[in-house]
Amino acid sequence: MKQITSVSCPTCNKDVIWNKESKWRPFCSERCKLIDLGEWASESHRIPGQELPSPMEPDDDKH
Ligand SMILES: [Zn+2]
Repeated sequence: MKQITSVSCPTCNKDVIWNKESKWRPFCSERCKLIDLGEWASESHRIPGQELPSPMEPDDDKH
């Protein structure tokens, strides 16, 4: 007898079958996982003012 375990996706509450093929479990998809990680990151792992200006100066010194 095979038992099917399912959980609800923490992001969208969709049923997710808990098996090897559900590689994003407990999320239903990669997207939901990223959304959840993103929320977690923005709540407790926010890096303030991390804006690195990318220098777009032409290489005039080089030939
Ligand atoms: Zn989901």
